[in-house]
Amino acid sequence: MSSSDKNFSSTPNTTLAGTFTCAWCGLTVSAVAGDGTRRNHCPSCLHSQHVLDHAEGGTSRCRGRMSPISVAVLRTADWMVIHRCVRCDELTSNPVCADDNQLVLMRMAVRPLAQPPFPLEAFGNL
Ligand SMILES: [Zn+2]
Ligand SMILES: [Zn+2]
Repeated sequence: MSSSDKNFSSTPNTTLAGTFTCAWCGLTVSAVAGDGTRRNHCPSCLHSQHVLDHAEGGTSRCRGRMSPISVAVLRTADWMVIHRCVRCDELTSNPVCADDNQLVLMRMAVRPLAQPPFPLEAFGNL
């Protein structure tokens, strides 16, 4: 009955309002960014943790590490980071924060162009 209380006490760094420890690089991250927006991923390596159940809402029991795999651009020109949970493969998208690591973002954005699944020489024959 009190198993959820036990989970919270064993992971004291995962509260919604305080700070959390990055599951990938160990950075202590403030859960609220400088401009007041809530952040759920590390600004340095952009890794996240699967703490929210996006499909059903509420808290997820997974707690798996979530790797940033791509970026997407909304119609509003805002960038989103696409995360995939390494444990349960759930995909989530989260707004990019102003202080997110731009090198990591750009590296993800150009990866499909740098590694096309077909030879770029084909465009020369069009
Ligand atoms: Zn990190
Ligand atoms: Zn998960």
